This record gives sequence, structure tokens and C-alpha cells, in this order.
Amino acid sequence: MLSLLKCMDCGREDALDARLITCPVCGGLLDVVHDLDALRPALAPDLFNRRLASWDPLDRSGVWRYRELVHPAVDAAQVVTRGEGNTTLYPAGRRLAEYAGVARLHLKHEGENPTGSFKDRGMTAGVTQARIVGARSVICASTGNTSASMASYAAITGLQALVFFPVGYVALGKIAQSLAYGATSVQVEGDFDDTLDLVRQAADELPIYLLNSVNPFRLEGQKTIMIELLHQRGWHAPDWIVVPGGNLGNSSAFGKALHELHALGLIDRVPRLAIVQAEGADPLYRSYRDGWQTRHTVRAETLATAIRIGNPANYPKAIRALAWTDGVVTEVSDQAILDAKAQIDAAGIGCEPASAATVAGIRRLVDEGTIAPGDDVVAVLTGHLLKDPDAVMKYHAGTLAGVASTYANTMRTIQPSLDAVAALLGDSV
Ligand SMILES: *Cc1c(COP(=O)(O)O)cnc(C)c1O
Ligand SMILES: [Zn+2]
Repeated sequence: MLSLLKCMDCGREDALDARLITCPVCGGLLDVVHDLDALRPALAPDLFNRRLASWDPLDRSGVWRYRELVHPAVDAAQVVTRGEGNTTLYPAGRRLAEYAGVARLHLKHEGENPTGSFKDRGMTAGVTQARIVGARSVICASTGNTSASMASYAAITGLQALVFFPVGYVALGKIAQSLAYGATSVQVEGDFDDTLDLVRQAADELPIYLLNSVNPFRLEGQKTIMIELLHQRGWHAPDWIVVPGGNLGNSSAFGKALHELHALGLIDRVPRLAIVQAEGADPLYRSYRDGWQTRHTVRAETLATAIRIGNPANYPKAIRALAWTDGVVTEVSDQAILDAKAQIDAAGIGCEPASAATVAGIRRLVDEGTIAPGDDVVAVLTGHLLKDPDAVMKYHAGTLAGVASTYANTMRTIQPSLDAVAALLGDSV
């Protein structure tokens, strides 16, 4: 069997190049399904290690290095890559680990991707698929990072990019990127959920290819966050993987990756997934808490704009990911997110607000006894510090509405004198 598209609701199957985003019969979400038994012999133990010593652009990419698990029969000439992935797995350092409440904490920094977020891992796969199906234009709704990434990958391969933002709630660095990379950039008078509805309709009616995370090829690329992480760890699984949840594409991709790696025998146990939402954008948490009785939606409100989503498109796939990984869901306040961010930033690592929900979530889960202090935990930092300079400046200036600047580092002003400099010594943090 080759890889194919399969509807997770009605089971309908289509060829990989069928140019479908969702099921043409029932509207359900599609999976890219691989024949794991057929792939197993190809995955010689040393295959991925050997590629680390290669200069081939596909081998250099932290996505396409694992191409058997992403798009097994892909034609190398079609691949649109910026050498994405290859992100650092940082040990947290004693102070940050103590803050989180666990002895062993690592941070996988997806903000080190070419456009500054994990979206590049999904976009290299999604834009490659857009080329394979012959698209000329690509479209997305975005809280900012999807658009930055799509704009870049479309530009390097000569596709028209149309990006749609909810007006007023996109961080400065992300809008700047979309304009700079030349995307047709549009603000919609509505929130992200309204914007995604509009864009999905447009992609149904117009000759344009949709690159939100309902596109199953995006998720195949994003699986490599887990694959590369486990490769970096010599295929030793941690106890916990912690990820922020917005549209739940990453959570879904992580579940699928861990499920497949376990089925392939590359890992001998599946780590538990912890999905962390912001209190003001917590539809998955609400459903989790009531035992999946109802699919909740909310009018989302949080300073972590990357996860300001009230009706996550990948909801059913995220539930499946939780089942595959014995996962949990929690929520944290904006105050907890921004304080955790200040700690991650001051550790020298840095991230955007949504990413810091992970460390805030770990603190809460340790407090509640779900994560044990001795557990081995990996948090995925999803975006770069510079994506949202406003949040940083306002936090440290004490002007962020509704948030106390617990760990503010305030700007000082001095006269140009040596005495004034001397007085600063030993005065930091
Ligand atoms: C997109 C994004 C998220 C949310 O990821 P989902 O896959 O939509 O759940 C979190 N953090 C950052 C920085 C993002 O760009
Ligand atoms: Zn279907």
C-alpha cells in the first residue's frame, strides 16, 4: 500500500494527490495514512544518523531528514525547503527548572525555525503539497505565525500568498513578516474563528489551496518536532511532552508522531502529552473537564495571541492524540503565562507568550500532583521572543493591562559618569 488520505470520520480513502483538504463526502478531517509495515524495513537504525553527515538539502532539513514518515514517495525536485527544524533542545537550567517544579526539564525551541515558529515545519510540507497538486495561490487565516511562514515559503517557490488576520490581535513581528515577504495581507473585522470560517469558504469556492492546520500535510511536517526530539535523545522517551493548544494542530501531530514511532518500534514507550490552554481560550480544557460530553466553543480572549482561538479546527484529532498518549489538558491565566515567559526569557532562552503557557502549565500540573517532581519533562517552545516585542516592553514597563509585572527588569537612565556605571555593578537581577 502507498500512503493515502483517509477520512477520520467515515473512512473514505483518496489518493495523496487528490487535492483535498477535508472529506468530500462527510466534511471530516483527513489523515495522511502511511503503511508502517511497508516502511519498517526502510528505517535502518542508522539511516537518520547518516543523513546528519550529508549536505543534501533534504537531509539537512529537520523535516525532510525524516521524509519516510512525512511524505514517503515525495519527488525531491518538488520539495520547498528552507532547511527548517534542527532546533535546539535546551536543558532548562536550575533556576527555571525550580520555577517549573521539576528536576529534569528541557525546552525544545521551535522559535529557532527560519521564520521564528514551528509553523515552518508544517509549511514546508504544505507548500510542497501545494506544488504537487498544481496550486498557483495559497491562503490561510492566521493569528500571525502561520501567515509569516506561508508568506515566506510561497515567496521562495513563486506562489501567490493570501493571508487573513483577525483585526487588532496579531503581534507586531508577525504582521511585519507577512508584509515583508510580499503576501497579500488582509485584516478581517472579526476574531480568528470568524477569519478561519471565511478562509475555509473561500478555499472551497475559489481556485486557491488552503494551508491552515486542517490541511493534513501540515501535520505530517509538524510531526517531526517529536521525531527530531526523540532522535536528539537517542530515542529515549521522556515522561511528558508539554505543548500549548490553540487550533490543536501541533497537539494532533504530536499524538500521531508518537503513535507511529511506537508502532514502528523506534521508541519503546509513549510519553504522556500535556496540552496547555489559556484560561480565556480554553474550549478543549472545558470539554476535557466535563468528560468530553460537549464540544465547547468560547469567545477567545488572551494576551497570548497565538492561542487566542475559541473553536479549534483539530478538536477531534486532539482528543485522539490524548487517547494515544494517556494525555491531560490544563489551563493557565495570562498572569501565569507572562510570569513564566519572564522566567524563560531571563534564563537566556526566550519565547513568545503562547510558548510560555507550557512552563506555567507544568507548574500547575506539578502543584496538582499530575506531574511528579522527579519526572523527565520536555516543553515545546513554539515561537521566538521577537515575535511579540510589545508584550515584552509592556511587561517590563509595568503597563500590560490586567497583568502584574512580577519579574520586571526596568530600564535605567544614568548621567554619563564612571561613578554611575560603578554603582550598577552587582546590581543585576
Ligand atoms: C500556532 C501557534 C500555537 C498554537 O498551535 P496549534 O497547533 O494551533 O495548537 C502556539 N504557539 C505559537 C507560537 C504558535 O504560532
Ligand atoms: Zn468522511
